[in-house]
Amino acid sequence: MQTVTLNNGVQMPILGFGVYQIPADRTERAVTQALAAGYRLLDTAAAYGNEEAVGDAIKNSGVRREDLFVTTKLWVQDAPAQDNTRRALEASLAKLGLDHVDLYLMHQPYGDVYGQWRAMETAQAEGLTRAIGVANFHPDRLLDLIFNNDTAPQVNQIETHPFFQRDLDHALMREHRVQHQAWGGFAEGKNDLFTHPVLGKVGEAHGKSVAQVVLRWLIQRDIVTIPKSVSPDRMAQNIDVFDFRLTDDQMAGIAALDTGTTLFFDHHDPEMVAWLSKRRIDN
Ligand code: NAP
Repeated sequence: MQTVTLNNGVQMPILGFGVYQIPADRTERAVTQALAAGYRLLDTAAAYGNEEAVGDAIKNSGVRREDLFVTTKLWVQDAPAQDNTRRALEASLAKLGLDHVDLYLMHQPYGDVYGQWRAMETAQAEGLTRAIGVANFHPDRLLDLIFNNDTAPQVNQIETHPFFQRDLDHALMREHRVQHQAWGGFAEGKNDLFTHPVLGKVGEAHGKSVAQVVLRWLIQRDIVTIPKSVSPDRMAQNIDVFDFRLTDDQMAGIAALDTGTTLFFDHHDPEMVAWLSKRRIDN
């Protein structure tokens, strides 16, 4: 598997498996199938409610721990954030059955971000996580975090797909050596992505599906991607993207699909800020 090197030297697979919206009672099977298909990066979160099932699949897989790259995410914490972040990470590790994760992400740019970040720095120094990062940080929040803390995030996981390509975010992250990771790489199928004529035509030229074209396009932009699927056929398809290359013209054709706006929600939207900031999960 092709990897990227994070700003602290940790190697991360460029393609992995996401488990958002997989019900807890289906997750162990899905992760078992994904590991059998060759995925080694698993992306879960405390908020997904399926860390235990991911842990069960890992335990029963026989895959060596050092061959896996496991990401989980911290939900927004009440004060004192440093104590609560530590407690939340320990709860996630217990559910996963692991003594460390490979990447711990702050799931939302809300709450006592600084307290949460400092607790994450401490956890990293103590070996509870090999890398730390953030998710859903727009450039203003990301720069503020970088300029006012000792550690720059290793990763920022943000909505990124052909209809919302994040060129400005990408350039900024490159400048500050923060690895861009895409969530919702398929836009969860919105805008009829899987039957989009431009993407379909590129696929035909390579004998590949639209899904494979999208993943290849992300990889060629050096973006780590974590497609989700509960179908073994699609899991196999989604990892089979390392034997072809999009041409400059094809990359440019896909670049033209950018609408520059979210298909989900805007993290600046006051209603969403209120909803996400008030949401608490049990960990
Ligand atoms: P996604 O990967 O963009 O899309 C998943 C959808 O695409 C599912 O409906 C899946 O259906 C379908 N699909 C997968 N492969 C396909 C293929 N080859 N052909 C046709 N359809 C296919 O959506 P996502 O799950 O939202 O994003 C991926 C991961 O990013 C998540 O699982 C999660 O780990 C992470 N994420 C993070 C955040 C955050 O705030 N940090 C937010 C959202 C997601 P089937 O399952 O039926 O195949």
